[in-house]
Amino acid sequence: TEEMMVRSEKMSVAGQLAAGIAHEIRNPLTSLKGFLQLLQAGVNRKEEYFTIMIDEIEKIEKIESITSELLYISKPLTDNKKIEPVINMIEDIVTLLLPQATLNNIEILIERPVHEKIFCDRSQIKQVLINLVKNAIEAMDTPGKIVLSTEQVDDNIIISVSDEGRGIETDILHKLGEPFFTTKQSGTGLGLLITKQILKAHHASLQIKQKPTKGSTFQLVFTDSKEE
Ligand code: ADP
Ligand code: MG
Repeated sequence: TEEMMVRSEKMSVAGQLAAGIAHEIRNPLTSLKGFLQLLQAGVNRKEEYFTIMIDEIEKIEKIESITSELLYISKPLTDNKKIEPVINMIEDIVTLLLPQATLNNIEILIERPVHEKIFCDRSQIKQVLINLVKNAIEAMDTPGKIVLSTEQVDDNIIISVSDEGRGIETDILHKLGEPFFTTKQSGTGLGLLITKQILKAHHASLQIKQKPTKGSTFQLVFTDSKEE
């Protein structure tokens, strides 16, 4: 059945990821042990060694943050879909991300907050919105604004997240959402992968647009939003 195929596909992906994680942890651990042994033997270049050891620990910390996101992916998507007002989910996540935005001199505006509703799992769509707004914040290295808007076009409900960030080079556009694809120093490259997975479970799609001015717009397109 389709479910079994999806399952076995998930398992093989899990196996590959586990092998990758084991490999990524082995190197910094080996190096940490080596430097600890040197320190134990009483060497002189302590300061230098501490710096390297902190770097190695940071590598392990990054792997830790990746694995916690993977745990999220591997959790079966519980299906708890209801008809939900979009504005409530938007307001919740804006409250959550406002401190991070304010810290970076970024304003978050909610436009046209009307009565659109979608049939969805509330916590999953909030996760999607968090991923997109976080990316928007991270794309902006100068003050500016992020606009969240909702509109109905024919039978579709479209939620847009628009930023004034650095935009996306056309040649990497197709890589967005590939596992571990990131252009950030401390990125995991899993946010858009999770986003796409959640959208698939909602028969919704992601559209990425370059703005004629500065920045990009990520749109979530929900069809048949009144019922499934
Ligand atoms: P991460 O945020 O950990 O890098 P994501 O899957 O969330 O992983 O995003 C993948 C990549 O897509 C980012 O590293 C970045 O290059 C690009 N990207 C995503 N959102 C935006 C955005 N709003 N503006 C510019 N680039 C973006
Ligand atoms: Mg991200």
